[in-house]
Amino acid sequence: AVTNIDLTTLITAVADTMAAHADELTALDQAIGDGDHGLNMKRGFEAVRAETATLAEKPLPEALKAIGTKLVMTVGGASGPLFGTLFMALGKELPAEPGRADFSAALAKAIDAVAARGKSQAGQKTMLDVLYPVQTAVAAGKTTPEVADIADQAAEATKPLKAIRGRASVLGDRSIGHMDPGARSSALITRAIAGTLE
Ligand code: ADP
Ligand code: MG
Ligand code: MG
Repeated sequence: AVTNIDLTTLITAVADTMAAHADELTALDQAIGDGDHGLNMKRGFEAVRAETATLAEKPLPEALKAIGTKLVMTVGGASGPLFGTLFMALGKELPAEPGRADFSAALAKAIDAVAARGKSQAGQKTMLDVLYPVQTAVAAGKTTPEVADIADQAAEATKPLKAIRGRASVLGDRSIGHMDPGARSSALITRAIAGTLE
């Protein structure tokens, strides 16, 4: 399944969803951050979209590394280097023609790289609270629609958490009750990618 990745379709799907949900992500970030997450993510993935033709010519690992680099340069904020690390590390870990097991193993390492970069871990109300459950679901052999649903539930489950990392952490208990913006964007990216892998 994951061997037949159509990078053009994948980039289009992710960039489209970031554009369509930019206002929603911004509203989430207005509640517990500085209100730029929607714009940050949209800008980053539009920059990736602009390079689609060049990216699609590269072997998948190289394309993922280039996407990560582009995201670091264009998303900005705390999330840019973190999403950038995710894609760069995925590209570094994946073989040229990955199977599902390769993808699962590479994803685990890439998420650990994000955690190392962010000095963060699961349970701190961040993107990691979606990324780890997604990896677990992939490793467990869940279908792509199941993985997308698990990602949405995981984003939803950040609401009762208190933020321990990132800008939202300065709010302390007042961060409780709001969905983490980076968790939501991670779920949106997951659903977009899952939709292209069916
Ligand atoms: P900024 O907070 O710099 O404005 P964004 O608004 O683009 O950046 O991204 C905020 C998101 O980044 C948060 O919702 C959270 O998911 C994620 N984030 C921030 N800091 C960390 C961290 N140390 N580890 C993991 N994720 C983090
Ligand atoms: Mg922000
Ligand atoms: Mg900011």
